[in-house]
Amino acid sequence: MATPGPTQLPYRVSPVIAGESITDAASRSSYRRENPADVHQIVTDTVEASLADVRAAVQAARDIFDGPPANWTQNTQLRRQVLLETGRLLRENTEALAQMMCLEIGMPIRLSRPHISAAADVFEFYAGYVGKSYGSAIQLPDGSMIDMLREPVGVVGIIVPWNFPFKQAARKLAPALAVGCTVVVKPSPYTNACTQELIRILAAAGAPDGVANFVPGASPEIGAALTADPGVDKISFTGSTGVGVMVQKSASDTLKRTSLELGGKNPCLVFEDADLAAAANGLTFGMFLNSGQACGSVSRLIVHRSVHDELLTRVEEILAGLRLGSPQDSATSFGPVVAKSQQERILGFLDRARADGLSIRIGGGVPAGAAYSNGYFVEPTIVDDVPPTHELAQDEVFGPVLAVLQFETDDEAVALANDTAFGLTAAIWTTDHARGLRVARRVRAGTIWINDNYQQNPEGIWGGYKMSGTGRELSPHGLYDMTEVKEIYSDGTGLAMKPLYRQVLND
Ligand code: NAD
Repeated sequence: MATPGPTQLPYRVSPVIAGESITDAASRSSYRRENPADVHQIVTDTVEASLADVRAAVQAARDIFDGPPANWTQNTQLRRQVLLETGRLLRENTEALAQMMCLEIGMPIRLSRPHISAAADVFEFYAGYVGKSYGSAIQLPDGSMIDMLREPVGVVGIIVPWNFPFKQAARKLAPALAVGCTVVVKPSPYTNACTQELIRILAAAGAPDGVANFVPGASPEIGAALTADPGVDKISFTGSTGVGVMVQKSASDTLKRTSLELGGKNPCLVFEDADLAAAANGLTFGMFLNSGQACGSVSRLIVHRSVHDELLTRVEEILAGLRLGSPQDSATSFGPVVAKSQQERILGFLDRARADGLSIRIGGGVPAGAAYSNGYFVEPTIVDDVPPTHELAQDEVFGPVLAVLQFETDDEAVALANDTAFGLTAAIWTTDHARGLRVARRVRAGTIWINDNYQQNPEGIWGGYKMSGTGRELSPHGLYDMTEVKEIYSDGTGLAMKPLYRQVLND
């Protein structure tokens, strides 16, 4: 199979249910997605799923999951082959897929390409786990056995955001399919083409019809219908904390299992003994990757007062050498933000920061020039001396805006790091490793990097403390989150009248 290239715009998208593309636009709504770097270009044209399509997609996934085990749930050979082949097809189509992502969300092409191989890595990693979701067993004193098995949780509703469409979907799809679940995937409307392409690749890799269904829809009703559907056993959601809370509430009516990967307000702590050249590189990468639109992005620099000036000068020098512009240009580091609403939201934060008298040290608005007038661009921005209670130090901006706070003691640094509702990631820069470990133990976040930023590997975990979510993705933990544990008790006594029965029965 070949992914359509950027000369074939607009990409055509429609729901996929039991292997069939539903292209009947007459009875469904449609959605057209513009290129965020050039809003006059329509990139994707989508026939959206109806509520009836969501029900049909869930039923299709149910039919396979509840059908003959040899077809899917117990067919380890097929599942391993599907995951491996998906990884291979992602790699084979890297250029076209990277261009698609670049056009749909404005991700710079130099970031889009490695993002595709990162998604392939996840499929290949979990291919190695197919048939290996080991349980445990214990023998009782009377010879009876208790086996505790990990079984697939069932039909999984996968709801994903737009910011890393292949990798985020991969982190849910790969472990779900590895253990034998079936899925219904609801993408962000901004990335309908990317997510549809992943579903097409899974089919081309040999996933039977109905294993992976696809229900695009811009209306919140589509995701909400999935979270409420009694045919869904688990919701695996990545998105904002506000929507995550709604998902949790809706899923609780049918006691669905949920994993929620939500927002962050991630601190980067730079101590006075840090290697400042390395810290400046790591910090600049970690905060402006994908124009700050990454859940684990650094959004608060918490820096020791004695190195504040030198560190920020170094960051400014690095930023001066990086290009903001067309995402399709390989020299570009920063593209546009994803949508007009997001651009307006970020600029709103900056307007309020100015009105509150905060010091915008660098950037702070829309870049000037014709090259930026047709897209949703925002300058990389650093706001200095932000009070810890200010919204810029507390709320997720999800854009290229760094809030700078200062500390003097380690206790102060830890208190500032923990002083938000979130707990997704944190970075610690120090040349004293023991100090780094001590601080890491005290910061309440799911992932802590010491002398690095934004490293993500399938072998490690991803997930949040506090309002950043529940559950863990990647690693064997991501696999376990797609399973239920079942006990099978086998009698080892052979007795017709067991001691337990005497609590009720007579000999
Ligand atoms: P969002 O919450 O607006 O949307 C996420 C998904 O939920 C989309 O597919 C959307 O259509 C769907 N949705 C909207 N309303 C719904 C409802 N009522 N019920 C069910 N589904 C619904 O988030 P977004 O703008 O697409 O993504 C950005 C957010 O995602 C940021 O907050 C970011 O931090 C977070 N994020 C978290 C992680 C992580 O791993 N923790 C990763 C990436 C992004």
